[in-house]
Amino acid sequence: MSHVFHRNPKMDLPTAVGGQGMELIDSNGKRYIDASGGAAVSSLGHGHPRVIKAIQDQVAQLAYAHTSFFTTQVSEDLADLLAAAAPGDLNHVYFVSGGSEAVEAALKLARQYFVEIGQPQRRHMIARRQSYHGNTLGALAIGGNAWRREPFLPLLVQAHHVSPCFAYRERLDGETDSAYAQRLADELEAKILELGPDTVAAFVAETVVGATAGAVPPVADYFKRIRAVCDKYGVLLILDEVMSGMGRTGYLFACEEDGVVPDLVTIAKGLGGGYQPIGATLCTDRIYDAIVGGSGFFQHGHTYIGHATACAAALAVQQTIVDDGLLDNVRARGEQLRGELRAALGDHPNVGDIRGRGLFVGVELVADRATKATLDPARKTHAKFKARAKDNGLLLYPMGGTVDGVRGDHVLLAPPFIASPADIGRIVDRFAQTLNDVL
Ligand code: PLP
Repeated sequence: MSHVFHRNPKMDLPTAVGGQGMELIDSNGKRYIDASGGAAVSSLGHGHPRVIKAIQDQVAQLAYAHTSFFTTQVSEDLADLLAAAAPGDLNHVYFVSGGSEAVEAALKLARQYFVEIGQPQRRHMIARRQSYHGNTLGALAIGGNAWRREPFLPLLVQAHHVSPCFAYRERLDGETDSAYAQRLADELEAKILELGPDTVAAFVAETVVGATAGAVPPVADYFKRIRAVCDKYGVLLILDEVMSGMGRTGYLFACEEDGVVPDLVTIAKGLGGGYQPIGATLCTDRIYDAIVGGSGFFQHGHTYIGHATACAAALAVQQTIVDDGLLDNVRARGEQLRGELRAALGDHPNVGDIRGRGLFVGVELVADRATKATLDPARKTHAKFKARAKDNGLLLYPMGGTVDGVRGDHVLLAPPFIASPADIGRIVDRFAQTLNDVL
């Protein structure tokens, strides 16, 4: 009997004992290609010597100092790196320990900003259907998964939802990207007007949708139009890049590709690349100045914010990405991955869509390509896909289920940025084998 309260206690899990580069190894000696980086976490792969050394050096020097007593050089250096790389004046970095905490901090920063500037009536948060922002109460409240919220509804603040930008399923026949983007911006504007423009604090969206829909990028100009609506009504734009940020799309911040600067952006998974739990929320000068020049401090905090060892790991991960030119590799290998998946599976009757950006790739599984009819939920295809891929020595992140009425099975691929052309070939071979085994 295990005393660990596992995520899914009924599942029989192998014991992971090692990790080398692209691979994880279990206690039976079986090797798995980590083609999803866990849940898009592992950006440098496993056992990277530079990161290991940085962690060892930091622990030997100073593992942790509470941030109400001290700052540390390593957290300052990491914040400098992130602020310099972030678009616009996202110059202030609030460190946390993971993605949900980063989202909570963003929501509270947005709320406190309006309290500080004398607009305390701004309280509403608008997010999108088909979104995941985390499992803590604030993040859960804004997320688009009704079934995840359901048992906890009495504990949650009310959030409001508009349509996601999901061209494959929700763009109308004959509708151009531009018209689709405008329709969605109009929907957001209508929601803001319905709630009362001076009561809305923020609009929250994943720059590229991850877990709920499988690497769905926005259509061109979507975020520019959303930014314009937010600006028109003084609503803050929060982009959640917990999954899509830190190089996953081929840009350090995914929103760089969309040409927009949010007021707040959250990052986590790829920040520490799995070597340490760390996340962050970045905010602009305007938000920082209002809070620091107002009440003087952000009314928030956790014991482990700015943890020195976590910062050392993240700093080494981010410096390696720059020094080894890995963003170029992410873009090139991402093109290769999508190209080879299309060549190998593009005609398969159950493959509806292959999409994504950089090494953030989604494959949508359908019952019928022509009608885009979804697979019968009772078949639990995503679960079978994950298990069979594992048997085939491939780690993938498939998801399924009904998300606010939209049903879909998709498989997320998010391999480490160090992937070689041959690694991508092996991933595609095992993916194709798994698809043929399952469907
Ligand atoms: N936001 C997004 C976009 C995510 O994908 C996730 C996790 O999958 C989270 C927030 C929550 O992050 P964590 O699981 O680290 O709390």
